[in-house]
Amino acid sequence: MPLKLLHNVIDPSVGSERDVQMVLEWGLSLSPSSLGRARYEHSVRDLGDYFYYVGAVYPGYVRPLQYAIVTASDTQLANFSWPFVVWLYLLQDASDACADHLAQRLVAPGLNSFLRDTLEAMLASIGTPSALDALADYVRRKDRIAALEDMGFWIPEGREPAVPRFMSTRLAAQVIRVEDGDSATYPNPIGLPLSAIMADPTQEVITWHYCSLDLAAIPGLPAFPASRVHLVSPPSDDNWTVFCKPLSDGRYVQAVVRGTTHTDSEWEQIFRERANAGHDFGRGRLELIPYDDRLIYANCHIELTPGVEGDVGGPPIGLYPNPRCLSCQRLMFHVSTMTSDVRKYGEGFRSLYLCENCGLVASHATSWN
Ligand SMILES: [Zn+2]
Repeated sequence: MPLKLLHNVIDPSVGSERDVQMVLEWGLSLSPSSLGRARYEHSVRDLGDYFYYVGAVYPGYVRPLQYAIVTASDTQLANFSWPFVVWLYLLQDASDACADHLAQRLVAPGLNSFLRDTLEAMLASIGTPSALDALADYVRRKDRIAALEDMGFWIPEGREPAVPRFMSTRLAAQVIRVEDGDSATYPNPIGLPLSAIMADPTQEVITWHYCSLDLAAIPGLPAFPASRVHLVSPPSDDNWTVFCKPLSDGRYVQAVVRGTTHTDSEWEQIFRERANAGHDFGRGRLELIPYDDRLIYANCHIELTPGVEGDVGGPPIGLYPNPRCLSCQRLMFHVSTMTSDVRKYGEGFRSLYLCENCGLVASHATSWN
C-alpha cells in the first residue's frame, strides 16, 4: 500500500468516496474518554496520515465532505490536529459558505490557540477569492501576519486579499544518481561545478551546488527572467538565506548571505574543504513525479519513497519564517523544498524561493525542526 500508517488503526485502502466518508465519521466520533489516551492519540495520528494521502491522491472523494469538516464542533476539531499541508489538499476550492463559517469562528471570543491555528489553516486552505479576502481581513484585525507568512501567504498593505506565495500543484523530487557525462545537460541536474552556476570564478560566497530546476517544466510558477534556478549553499550548516541574481544564461551574480549565525571559522574551513574535495560527489538529476500511488505516504510526507528527497511546488514547510525579497521586501515565492541529502552538505531542509518582480532567487537552509 502506498499509505503507511504508524499504528494501523484504520484500513489504509481507499476504494471509494464512501470509504472516506466512513473514516471521517469515525474521526468525528473519537474521544479520549471512551478510547483511553494512548489509543486516542494513535487514532488521531493515523487519521492525519490517512487524510494526507486522500488529499494527495483522491481529493475528489473529500469534496462532498468539506462542509461537514468545516462545521465540526470545537471538540471534534481536536481530533484533526493536522498541519497546513494536510488541510490544503482537503479544503481547496471549498464553497463560500465554508469560508464564511470559518471566518466567523475565527473571531469568536475565547478561542484557544490550538483551535485558532487549526481554523486559520483551514481558512487559508480554501484559496478562493472570497476566502483570501476573509483571510486577509481576519489576519489584519487579529495581528496574525507573521503566522500567515510562515504558511506562505503574503498580506499586502491596505485592503487587498491574501496572496499565496506558492503553487498548490506539487511534484515529488526523486534523485537519480548519474556518475558519468556532463550533468549540466541533464534536466534538473544535481551537482554542477561552481563554474556552471556562478558568473564570477573568484567568488567565495557559494561553495556548493545541490541541484537546479528547469522552470519551464514546473506548472504554476510566475514568469521569471531565467529558465533555470539553482539551490546552492555557502560554507555553513546554520540557518541561512543566500540571495543571488541569475543572468540570462542562468549563472548567478551578486551572492549575499543573510541570517546565518555561523561565526566559527574552523567550521567554515571544514565546509570549504568538504566542497573542494567533493566536486564529483553525488551527481545526478531530479525526476519530478506526480503525487500518485507510486509514492509512499507516511507521517504527512512522502520521503520514505526510495530516492525522494523533497517536493517541487506545494507550500513551504511552515516551521520557519520564509524569506522576504532583499530588494522589494515582499514574501518570496516558494518553489521547492529538499532535504540536504539531495547532495549531502550540512543537515536539514534546503528551500528555493524567487521574487519574480526583482529577478532574485533565494536558497534557504533550516535545521530539521
Ligand atoms: Zn523583490
